Amino acid sequence: GCHNRKYSLQGGNDASKIMSRCLRVAVVGAGAAGLCAAQHVLSRQNTFSPPVVYELTNQVGGTWVYEERVGSHDNSQSIHSSMYRNLRTNLPKEVMMFPDFPFDQHLPSFLPHQEVLHYLERYSQQYGITPHIQFETKVEEVKPVTMEMEEGKVTWEVTSSGGQHGWRTETFDAVFVCSGHYSDPHLPSIPGLENFKGTLLHSHSYRCPESFAGQSVVVLGAGASGLDISIELAGVQAQVTLSHGRPPLRFPLPPQVQQAPPVSRVLEDGAVQFVDGGVARPQVLLLCTGYNLSFPFLGGAALGLQTICPFLHFHTQVQFALAVLEGVVSLPSPAEMEEEVRREMERNMAEGVEPRHLLKMDSAQWGYYQTLARMGGFRPPPPVTQSLYEEVWRQRQNHPQKYRQLNYRLISDIEWEVLEVQPER
Ligand code: FAD
Repeated sequence: GCHNRKYSLQGGNDASKIMSRCLRVAVVGAGAAGLCAAQHVLSRQNTFSPPVVYELTNQVGGTWVYEERVGSHDNSQSIHSSMYRNLRTNLPKEVMMFPDFPFDQHLPSFLPHQEVLHYLERYSQQYGITPHIQFETKVEEVKPVTMEMEEGKVTWEVTSSGGQHGWRTETFDAVFVCSGHYSDPHLPSIPGLENFKGTLLHSHSYRCPESFAGQSVVVLGAGASGLDISIELAGVQAQVTLSHGRPPLRFPLPPQVQQAPPVSRVLEDGAVQFVDGGVARPQVLLLCTGYNLSFPFLGGAALGLQTICPFLHFHTQVQFALAVLEGVVSLPSPAEMEEEVRREMERNMAEGVEPRHLLKMDSAQWGYYQTLARMGGFRPPPPVTQSLYEEVWRQRQNHPQKYRQLNYRLISDIEWEVLEVQPER
């Protein structure tokens, strides 16, 4: 059990009493990040009580739980997942996995979403996380409370609703916020959008291409979803205009996909106008314009990082956070940390990074993982992860329609190889 954490209670009549107890951790969300946090907390039973994991829905997996319906559930809770029916992962399983929990080696490298859900369910079962999850329980508020008895130490009150207990508030030493950031669609402000007469939807509510067969579609945004969905739509003979603000994409796209610059406005007659003055009259306007960071229970705080290798990132950040809680790492003062964040933001903006991209890590993620691992005293990701990630990134840039046909195998911590080429399903 857990017995090596000692706090001295100062003040009052109890000044000399030494209390020994283990740290209580709450986890908001049972997607990949929440499960990872719970697993590492459970593996440190000397220091931590078993975590309390709050999960809004009735199952684990978050993003990887495919919901055919869009909008909201019967209980009027809005649909969380943005998963679409034919999605296959854009990272090979060899890079995507938690380093301590490989996927089934018989699977191809690029997986249909069902396999990732199955993997996360297995992870939850195997590490004994499932009994610690309170399903159908929504975290309504997470609030810091200063403990006067313990030298200004902060604890956290977590108020939840639903589940077995209804409304209630519990107190924790730390809270892992793992509620995801691909659920609240970001809608760009396009002048005249209310004039659009066709079907308007965001990729959050896109499920499958069939209902768009043969239609004219303007897809706005050429990120991972915009590009993938354009290629899917071309497969059902939709006429796609892929509108984006990036330099023109040079790799081969299906003939049904034309590129256009960003949309500037929707005219009174419902036509879509692009910044170069060109005009289109699509039947469908599909916004693949990303997501807002939204943490309603935190009263305005915003966290999160993008363009990363998600599961590896969770694995590393969780271990670092636990090293902080265990006292292995001591953090600088909040003022020093805020100053460093400010300096980094300034540096990035001076290099021309747009404000909305300040949380994108890209190639900076690898140095960041090394730093966290060094400070926290745990194993950093093996070099093979970075080298395969970068290889797949290159393949994706050059062959967006074909890169998923490749299969990879890890040979060692530094080497990988390409196996046979699979036909695209
Ligand atoms: P989520 O999976 O979103 O889980 C959050 C959980 O928190 C949910 O279960 C939700 O119900 C719960 N929750 C939210 N609010 C509350 C609350 N108030 N109270 C209680 N519970 C709450 N990553 C890859 O590595 N490879 C890919 O190929 C890939 N493809 C993707 C494709 C799409 C379309 C999307 C949207 C994302 C993709 N990602 C991919 C990124 C993906 O988001 C991460 O892999 C990962 O699943 C994120 O996990 P998470 O735990 O942070 O969030």
